Amino acid sequence: MNLWNKTTARAALALTASTLAAVATTSAWAEYPDRSITIVVPFAAGGPTDKVARDLAEAMRKPMGGQSIIIENVGGAGGTLGAARAAKASNDGYTLLLHHIGMSTSPALYRNMTYKTLEDFEYLGMINEVPMTLIGKPSLPANNMPELMKWIDANKGKINLANAGLGAASHLCGLLFQQAIKTDMTTVPYKGTAPAMTDLLGGQVDLMCDQTTNTTTQIEGGKVKAFAVTTSKRLTTPALAKLPTLDEAGVKGFNVSVWHGLYAPKGTPKAVTDKLNAALKTALHDADFIKRQEALGAVIITDARLNSAEHKKFVEAEINKWGPIIKAAGQYAD
Ligand code: ASP
Repeated sequence: MNLWNKTTARAALALTASTLAAVATTSAWAEYPDRSITIVVPFAAGGPTDKVARDLAEAMRKPMGGQSIIIENVGGAGGTLGAARAAKASNDGYTLLLHHIGMSTSPALYRNMTYKTLEDFEYLGMINEVPMTLIGKPSLPANNMPELMKWIDANKGKINLANAGLGAASHLCGLLFQQAIKTDMTTVPYKGTAPAMTDLLGGQVDLMCDQTTNTTTQIEGGKVKAFAVTTSKRLTTPALAKLPTLDEAGVKGFNVSVWHGLYAPKGTPKAVTDKLNAALKTALHDADFIKRQEALGAVIITDARLNSAEHKKFVEAEINKWGPIIKAAGQYAD
């Protein structure tokens, strides 16, 4: 064999080997999923993020070949413990993360975060946007925003504000509210707003901001005092339509909406992330999912925004939006 032939033969062999390897890899992932998938929710069970995840798991089950999708609640430290757990999990498509706006607020708050938001995940797509409401304990002697502002004035230094830890949506909303009305409150952190809601209902804490996916039923049932919505427009959900926006109530420019997204650990094979993205898309068109989410005030993401690039671009923009505001407030955790 002359030199040309030897080189060509080696190249052909190498090509065959790499083609075989590629085929083997693709067919291995063609079987995916062949067992149950876990979605890590970085907040307590029963709360608003958990509710989105459980509804989504149900809607994704069929497009994921009927495999069960299990929710693992890893609450604490404003969602950073759960996000870290997912970032460090095997990148085989069997552990995912469902997180909210906290993906973009945590980098400005935590000096020693153990994962990198933009580098350690595959972005599978956004899910929905959910407004928040400002609510109070049932025994609060105020029934509307003007009365609440009077009560806050009369009780400065004594007010407790519940949240789900630094980096949670409730923390962000509470921080902006305290700044806007120039009043410091004592914040009480929980592993999620489900346990915070229990304490609010029991009167152990005074106020809380939380997603409508957790507050609508309580407001509807008259179990909590509801004062305002945090978005720039009023909501159309019957139980919430009467509530003014914080902006209308005098807290000018206030606009916070909580978005949720789905992630996989970095390096999850493309065949897997493509399958997950397609299943997410199918789930977001599922009539039951839409009905359940919309009844609680959530707005489902449109298809145009439901891809990895748009999702990552949005999170990056949110990091740039909230980071300077949080840093200016001098908030951080070690
Ligand atoms: N609503 C919570 C938050 O304030 C999180 C949760 O418990 O779902 O971010």
